[in-house]
Amino acid sequence: MKIAVVGTGYVGLVTGTCFAEMGNTVTCVDIDKQKVAMMKKGRVPIYEPDLDNLFARNIKEKRLVFTTNLKEGIDGAEVVFLALPTPPGEDGSADLSYILGVADDLGKLLKSYTVVVDKSTVPVGTAERVRGHIARTAKVDFDVVSNPEFLREGFAVADFMKPDRVVVGTESVKAKALLKELYAPFVRQGSPLYFMDERSAEMTKYAANAFLATKISFMNEIANLCELTGADVDAVRLGIGSDDRIGKRFLYSGIGYGGSCFPKDVSALHKIALEHDYSFQVLEAIMDVNQHQKQRLTNKVKAYFNDNIEGKTFALWGLAFKPDTDDIREAPALEIIKGLLDNGARVQAYDPEAIENVKKYFGNETGISYAISAYEALKQADALLIATEWEQFRTPDFAQMKKLLRKPLIFDGRNLYSLRLMREQGFHYESIGRKAVNS
Ligand code: NAD
Repeated sequence: MKIAVVGTGYVGLVTGTCFAEMGNTVTCVDIDKQKVAMMKKGRVPIYEPDLDNLFARNIKEKRLVFTTNLKEGIDGAEVVFLALPTPPGEDGSADLSYILGVADDLGKLLKSYTVVVDKSTVPVGTAERVRGHIARTAKVDFDVVSNPEFLREGFAVADFMKPDRVVVGTESVKAKALLKELYAPFVRQGSPLYFMDERSAEMTKYAANAFLATKISFMNEIANLCELTGADVDAVRLGIGSDDRIGKRFLYSGIGYGGSCFPKDVSALHKIALEHDYSFQVLEAIMDVNQHQKQRLTNKVKAYFNDNIEGKTFALWGLAFKPDTDDIREAPALEIIKGLLDNGARVQAYDPEAIENVKKYFGNETGISYAISAYEALKQADALLIATEWEQFRTPDFAQMKKLLRKPLIFDGRNLYSLRLMREQGFHYESIGRKAVNS
């Protein structure tokens, strides 16, 4: 099938590449000229494990091409996916200007029956709005379908290739048949392909992300209470996770959720509720807890140094909002850096993939420097802070770390090390929801 994907970010590029891998001919359209030029040269513009090989193979086989021109990109495409940004507007609601802008253009450009698919995360009722915008100028028949994406950054290719489920919202028989054909190779091992009405599909995505954010904020509150009561959140996690009704996943406490999805989607769902005069109280608590949790590590550091960290230097391991991505959108590490700098401290930051994005984010800000290795970040630092659980941080050379740090002091926002190990290695160690190890 010939398809087009408009917007080639984390979702669009993975979507386009994976559809090409199944034999479809895919044109990826993006307004970012630099990005398109880079992709035309065969370079992947984001860090996403396993994407490079698929990307290179499909370019070579001429099933994957790139353009900045929407007209050229959708020419002959039976299905056009919109994988455009839906960032939070000032009031927390999803900004639909990217999607509706492209919908306006599509109306003028469609030449024959086309299925336009919303892959972006969008408020309930958006498919209808997209339909309205296209219809203003369209001279041909078309359908608009909601097909929310559930991939996780860091596992995006695997998630897309073997999804837990695919959700498609449409009442159109024609669109249903096309989407069924397109997704058949991805669900052949038995994952469900759920067809539903478009509003339910749109709500499904928000409900999924809000539920996962709820789990995180809930466990973070349990962790905070563990610290006050002397319980250990890791033991509690194991204890509750073995209950099938609860499940083992998403029970790790830490320094709050970040990324391009949870914060904006929880906030957008909250806004949808308010627009319907409904006060979604659980969501308010989730957002509130998360905001506080992001300050938690900095507060521990400040408390340790009697509220005076001026002139101190801190090593920070992990900048991406989670491991295996270079994405720093809403990353807890950014809040930590700001908190430390605001209090007159310096930061020596290290991340395997996200440093370039953080450099762009902080620009010429003084007080922050970037290390070329995890160990270099430790040199002459007063303590180490850990904000992202990259695998390479799990079994470091503790003896070397002790030599490089001014004092054997670790504040771990991801509970990477056992308390026993930290005691044996002679570190003062503070983590989340567990007792402090005092050296
Ligand atoms: P992104 O910011 O990484 O990518 C968006 C791309 O769209 C960019 O390359 C941008 O240049 C391009 N773009 C902007 N305006 C354009 C236009 N008019 N024409 C063509 N291209 C244009 O975004 P993302 O993370 O891929 O997210 C896209 C959507 O998918 C969002 O709604 C998001 O909530 C949702 N989503 C994201 C994830 C994720 O893990 N990132 C997972 C599931 C769903």
